[in-house]
Amino acid sequence: MQPLELEHYRHSLAHLLAAAVLEMYPDAKRTIGPAIEDGFYYDFEFSQPISETELPKIEKRMRKILTTWKAFERIDVSADEARQEFAGNPYKTELINEFSKDGQKLTFYKSGNYIDLCRGGHIENPKDIDPEAFKLDRLAGAYWRGDEKNAQLTRIYGLAFETKQELDTYLAEREEAERRDHRKLGADLDLFHFDESIGKGLPIWLPKGNVIKDVLEDWAKTTERKWGYDRVTTPIITKEDLFYTSGHLPLYKDSMYAPLEIEGENYFIKPMNCPFHHKAFAARPKSYRDLPVRLAEYGWCHRYEDSGSLFGLMRVRGMQMNDAHIYVQKEAAVEEFVKVIKLHEYYYQALGIKDYQMELALRDPDKMDKYHGDEQDWLDAERMTIEAMERSGVPYTVVHEGAAFYGPKMDFQIRSVTGRLFTASTNQLDLFMGKRFGLEYTAADGSRQTPAIIHRAPLGTHERFIGFLIEHFAGVFPMWLAPEQIRLASVSDDYIPFAKEFRLKLVEAGLRVKLDDSSEKVGKKIRNAAIEKVPWTIVIGEKEVAGEDFQVKVFGSETALSIKQNDLIEAALQQAKLPN
Ligand SMILES: [Zn+2]
Ligand SMILES: [Zn+2]
Repeated sequence: MQPLELEHYRHSLAHLLAAAVLEMYPDAKRTIGPAIEDGFYYDFEFSQPISETELPKIEKRMRKILTTWKAFERIDVSADEARQEFAGNPYKTELINEFSKDGQKLTFYKSGNYIDLCRGGHIENPKDIDPEAFKLDRLAGAYWRGDEKNAQLTRIYGLAFETKQELDTYLAEREEAERRDHRKLGADLDLFHFDESIGKGLPIWLPKGNVIKDVLEDWAKTTERKWGYDRVTTPIITKEDLFYTSGHLPLYKDSMYAPLEIEGENYFIKPMNCPFHHKAFAARPKSYRDLPVRLAEYGWCHRYEDSGSLFGLMRVRGMQMNDAHIYVQKEAAVEEFVKVIKLHEYYYQALGIKDYQMELALRDPDKMDKYHGDEQDWLDAERMTIEAMERSGVPYTVVHEGAAFYGPKMDFQIRSVTGRLFTASTNQLDLFMGKRFGLEYTAADGSRQTPAIIHRAPLGTHERFIGFLIEHFAGVFPMWLAPEQIRLASVSDDYIPFAKEFRLKLVEAGLRVKLDDSSEKVGKKIRNAAIEKVPWTIVIGEKEVAGEDFQVKVFGSETALSIKQNDLIEAALQQAKLPN
């Protein structure tokens, strides 16, 4: 089905829903019933509230009525005729009065015994509706015309697809997405917390979530050291001048927190790290031999996001970014940008992310006035970015909107397990800021040159990236990333001294281990470890104390691993190694 056909199909089902509701609840008042993204809805005023247990019955009635429908017959009516048909229904009457204001004719559509006020857009033959390919989904409250001053109505949502198979797939995917929802898992697994008294969009990382954050950061630091990066640390507030130099002020002001006044000067909380790194580059003279200079920082940034757009960890107001800025000779910038793309691939491979692409955002031709910088630099930056993307071999698309005010922007998009496309990081080859900040290095011929700057953040922000990883792994983190790697479960108090000593050995070897020495039965201890999705659980009882092999229960696996006591630490460390 074409999108328009599908819309007509779904809207036709809204008629069918209303027909069933009116048969079952003759005093219910109909309002409107459009098609939506995954189906349709219809809003009603019921004289008595209905519950979701009614939905299967209404659905059944819909299927019965459907067999009697042969067509959607158009009937032209005058406003008076329409008012007569819908007498006693203030909602339809309001619509009729509004639609007929300028003397327009109105249309009814009739199918079987059901008539509705409608401007059209139905499937030609109701027999084409597969009675198994739709399902009433849920109830919700909705105000008439979306205005909370108006009456509250009951909205019945339905799902509708062309085939039953598509409907089943949709339901399965939705269930899987709910199971993986990072907000739910974040709470269930004690990873992070939002507290109203701290403020919206400002997460607290709880101890277990903080482990994940630390491990990712350690991994990034180790990796970046290998790839030739140096680390810097820069303040989170700055005098406003810095952001006037960058051009973020006044342009970007709405996305920044209001300034603090200190000793008569305005200081802003930084929304990004770039200008600070530029200052770090400029702090000492540079020659071409020093380049590329790669300055990295897991920098703390704060952005003012509209409270309506905040969403779990995915959109927050305070975030720590896997940021770095690379200062490179313009001639070598393409090659350096290819390396940045390769670094993304390295991370994605290690995390088992197989489906990813790049999207290059260029200037919107209709809004050319909102971009700064000279035309030649824009053209060069576009050409060089495309060349780097081509050379990397990673698939990419180009869109003509979404560029930054100072240059084209390249996003890495990764596809989540549930099929959602997720922007993981933003990168830029920037020929603009170097000039704005007067950055220079001495070239081989002794001349003073401006470096190209590459902005990159492969692991995005901790908040968004960990939000993604929670859903990617459905909370079952690989051993190297798991907050707790091994749980020891003592069979009884007699074995606690041995278990404590063994735990200490594992911890000294660098493993994250907890001992459950509570008075619970060992079976319960094992189940608790499984609820918390701990990768390895080891029971400590008589046999273990006697030196027999450990039986390691691996999360998600039916059979236990049998490992000799002397080999256990090595085996665990092997599993817990950072990817490389
Ligand atoms: Zn209609
Ligand atoms: Zn930057």
